[in-house]
Amino acid sequence: LSPEEFRKLGHRMVDWIADYQARLESFPVRSQVAPGGVASKLPEHPPEEGLAGEAGWEGIFKDLEDIILPGLTHWQSPSFFAYFPANASGPAVLGELLSAGLGVQGMLWSTSPAATELETRVLDWLAELTGLPEDFRSTSATGGSVIQGTASEATLVAMVAARERARRHGAPADSEWVAYASTQAHSSVLKAAMLCGVAHGAEDTTHVRLIETSARYGMRPELLERTIREDLDAGRVPFFVCATVGSTSSGAADPVRAVGEVMARTPMRASGGWLHVDAAWAGAALVCPEHRDLLDGMSGVDSLAFNPHKWLLTNFDCNAFYTRDRKALLDALSVTPEYLRNAASASGAVIDYRDWQVPLGRRFRALKLWFVLRHYGAKGLRAHIREHVRLGERFESWVSEDERFEVAVPRSLSLVCFRLKPLPGEPPQATDARNRELLERVNASGKMFLSHTVLHAVEGAPARYVLRMAIGASMTQERHVRAAWELLASSVG
Ligand code: PLP
Repeated sequence: LSPEEFRKLGHRMVDWIADYQARLESFPVRSQVAPGGVASKLPEHPPEEGLAGEAGWEGIFKDLEDIILPGLTHWQSPSFFAYFPANASGPAVLGELLSAGLGVQGMLWSTSPAATELETRVLDWLAELTGLPEDFRSTSATGGSVIQGTASEATLVAMVAARERARRHGAPADSEWVAYASTQAHSSVLKAAMLCGVAHGAEDTTHVRLIETSARYGMRPELLERTIREDLDAGRVPFFVCATVGSTSSGAADPVRAVGEVMARTPMRASGGWLHVDAAWAGAALVCPEHRDLLDGMSGVDSLAFNPHKWLLTNFDCNAFYTRDRKALLDALSVTPEYLRNAASASGAVIDYRDWQVPLGRRFRALKLWFVLRHYGAKGLRAHIREHVRLGERFESWVSEDERFEVAVPRSLSLVCFRLKPLPGEPPQATDARNRELLERVNASGKMFLSHTVLHAVEGAPARYVLRMAIGASMTQERHVRAAWELLASSVG
């Protein structure tokens, strides 16, 4: 495409996206295609001839409407309440566009100084906005931050940094390493342990210990302590704890302070043990001072990560990873082949973010975060979170007022786990089945989309199938939440 052709098509594509946003409420939220329904409309073989300039793009715009749109679940629909949100916003989309248009690859400071220095600065802004301690910022002697693609990558790099530090403290490289998390932790903790060879497969409960929780689904620190001591007695090396703040299932928070105290009380901390906080979703709420209780106990934390791409108006992918021990991270991840050597890196005066992540290459993701922070400002971000939390409170109150329903665990920020109550004498499986049917009925309507979880049996309460109302899409307003509740209430069989 010539620059002029690109300009015309670019304007048209931006128009298409703006029209898409305006049309969002007219689509069924969950895609209604059957498996293979999209693939069957695509040619089996790649085109031999390319398009001759701009005119040929008519076909592409047509295919977007006819093939791609029906195969989408509309994550940006204001009636999307499933999983956790994956926020997009105008400023972030423009940042993505610019990043693609510039096409720089910021693996080293010297391969685009602006990519590195902007990233460092916006992450320091974000640390200030979320109230993270000073020693997690780039301006501190030992800390720093980096944009990872996802929370899963953040957990993986934290784990390898942890192992590096434990080795520095004298643990042999071939130790039997053990990592800990609660039963509610995201599966990415286990996957990280599998990737770095700590766990030998997904069933390895000897090297990834999932600690039972309280009735509110936060890790029980006394069980963590007992398990760490058992592992030490067995000659294993406890080296990593992942505390979840805002669990995927129910938004539960592990008691970070108590977990840090356990690590300090056992020999784990003195031998280099690392505490990582996975706040993938809930971390965004830290922009509001009233939610900073989530940060209690940060003095015992070595790294924390959250996803602006979930609930902070920044398009996927964008994970903000902070550590107060950047040396451990760099020692674990730096490898310098000759072809990457350069004077700036050798001077020690610059950051090379390739040493902070798994891949070598990296996109200019800081642009979208920069645009978001400048466009909304701290006030706009706080208003975004507060409105969703307010809507969560509204939804929770409607559920509580309807005697057919119950709130299954106390609301966490804007996430409400709820279900149809058991009928008198009804066995648990039958209650679960009625809830499953209700979920399928409302999702099949196309008017909204929400997902479910199974809350583990704890402290005498049986396991429960519950519906999750995760409010947080960028365009969700009270009328959408109200309509969702009315649909649920009128769909009970
Ligand atoms: N951790 C928690 C608590 C999550 O809820 C999720 C996803 O929902 C993840 C990690 C994984 O996030 P990502 O897709 O960024 O790896």
